[in-house]
Amino acid sequence: NRRIVLAARPHGEPKPEHFRLEENRVNALRDGEVLLRTRFLSLDPYMRGRMSAAKSYAKPVEIGEVMVGQTVSAVEASHNPAFAVGDLVLSPAGWQDYLVSDGRGLHKLDPADGPPSAFLGALGMPGMTAYAGLLEIGRPQSGETVVVAAAAGPVGSMVGQIARIKGARAVGIAGGPEKCAYLTETLGFDAAVDHRAPDFSEALARACPDGIDVYFENVGGAVFDAVLPLLNDFARVPVCGLVSGYNMSELPPGPDRSGLLMRNVLTKRLTLRGFIVWDFADLHEAFLRDVGGWLKAGRVKAREDVVEGLENAPGAFIGMLKGANFGKLVVKVS
Ligand code: NDP
Repeated sequence: NRRIVLAARPHGEPKPEHFRLEENRVNALRDGEVLLRTRFLSLDPYMRGRMSAAKSYAKPVEIGEVMVGQTVSAVEASHNPAFAVGDLVLSPAGWQDYLVSDGRGLHKLDPADGPPSAFLGALGMPGMTAYAGLLEIGRPQSGETVVVAAAAGPVGSMVGQIARIKGARAVGIAGGPEKCAYLTETLGFDAAVDHRAPDFSEALARACPDGIDVYFENVGGAVFDAVLPLLNDFARVPVCGLVSGYNMSELPPGPDRSGLLMRNVLTKRLTLRGFIVWDFADLHEAFLRDVGGWLKAGRVKAREDVVEGLENAPGAFIGMLKGANFGKLVVKVS
């Protein structure tokens, strides 16, 4: 079994030396256990948080432990009547080839519902994040303007497409002209703005002539600075992620601007609400029905960035935190 463990905790950007590829033997199956072989491994920004010892909503990966991650795995051998050889399951196997599981925490997948890797993206955790955060906290109304960054990724792309289905105007922020063209030409966003362009703030203001009613926060930092003055009275801000800061080990120097933020919250009567996807677990069925239906009908699209080979997971993950991925990043392991 090849597995990638956390070799050291990064300060700042993770480097290849923070990961280590190891081999170990898989134990023989006991009663009630199944042997899972990883087909696809999901790479997600939250994993950067698990590499750090800082207190968060989930416990960190320990040094020497397998990196956490969701996989689509195939049952290769089964001593558990609930699983048959060949079944596909969603599993918390992490960055490795095989996992012996007692069956807890596994979810059987029906291949009729979509291609296997989609359960890590549009039909999985990122899709659910977009659906729940936008509809429960953002609550976009017809004619309103919804802005989302990391808009070519699995969360952001779904936020913009659902916003349009709800009758809102969707403005996406992404890194580079190719991702921006994809948003407007393929996904139907009303406008796209490149956060790397020198006139980013002005371009965002031009793309939002009526201000911003919902800002789905995925990145923070300079993007949020450009968004804040454009927020309308009573705007809603689902705070989903702050990926621009995940590699920071301390606050950037500069004047304390929390007063500016709070003044905006007060005078514009803003709602900012943080959430973790599983806070909305009760919406999971509605999510599968709605997004599954929209995908089948072609009303929403999902793009994947598939990297071949477990050994390439660290490099792909490091790149994702800087925008090197284009679509939901998954590793094809076998
Ligand atoms: P993506 O595949 O979109 O990857 C992250 C993207 O962030 C990069 O591709 C890059 O896109 C963008 N990015 C990185 N640095 C910056 C920066 N400095 N400024 C602007 N954009 C930047 O990731 P996901 O769709 O999986 O996740 C999106 C967000 O949602 C993350 O913050 C993640 O942590 C969060 N999340 C939160 C969950 C929750 O339960 N709260 C659950 C799932 C995800 P570009 O090239 O466009 O810059």
